[in-house]
Amino acid sequence: MPLTTDSARDSTPVAWFVISKYAMKPAATSRFRRERLPAASHFYGHELGKLHAAGRNHARCACPFHGGKNPTAFSINLLTGGFNCFNCGVHGSSIVDYVMLRDHVGFTMACKILGAWDDNNRVSRAEVVLFKRAREQRGALAAQKAEAERQRRIEVRDELHLMERCSDFASHRLNSVGPKGPEAEHCWMIMSITLPMIRERDAEYRRLAGIDL
Ligand SMILES: [Zn+2]
Repeated sequence: MPLTTDSARDSTPVAWFVISKYAMKPAATSRFRRERLPAASHFYGHELGKLHAAGRNHARCACPFHGGKNPTAFSINLLTGGFNCFNCGVHGSSIVDYVMLRDHVGFTMACKILGAWDDNNRVSRAEVVLFKRAREQRGALAAQKAEAERQRRIEVRDELHLMERCSDFASHRLNSVGPKGPEAEHCWMIMSITLPMIRERDAEYRRLAGIDL
């Protein structure tokens, strides 16, 4: 016979304490509804478009987080939803983790977005659209930043090459005309200007290109 409130009060104080603490209060149940999550393969197919098969239940594609072009950098487990980028290191073990990172939201909100949270206040269609718009804006800003960096990298590389050509020219002329005389003076001057600029541009190029010094 199940233990009722009355029979619990008739029990010893210790038993009453135990029952009141653990049985009389509603258990804190999770409202996460795993069974309502979309299948990982369906989710990623919709989210990332073309996926390259990579072994059993795995696929690869370009990383949606760091935006690289390597078509195999991002590995996905199509059964569990786990993911891992071999370039930027972003990783997670489910599509909930993916949405948390993608939309910069916590666990509960990610579950709501995926329709896997038992809640009277479900995320409305309008909110999902807002999340999507914010995500697209972040993507556009990141693309703009990447393009500006690429342009600057090209500029710095071109300046570096120009300075190197000037310096090489002056160096070769010095070899021909010797270290003294008006032309030699001119060559020394060119080298004194270009060498510090080469060092500076080289350091900047390495920084922009992510090359370790
Ligand atoms: Zn990445």
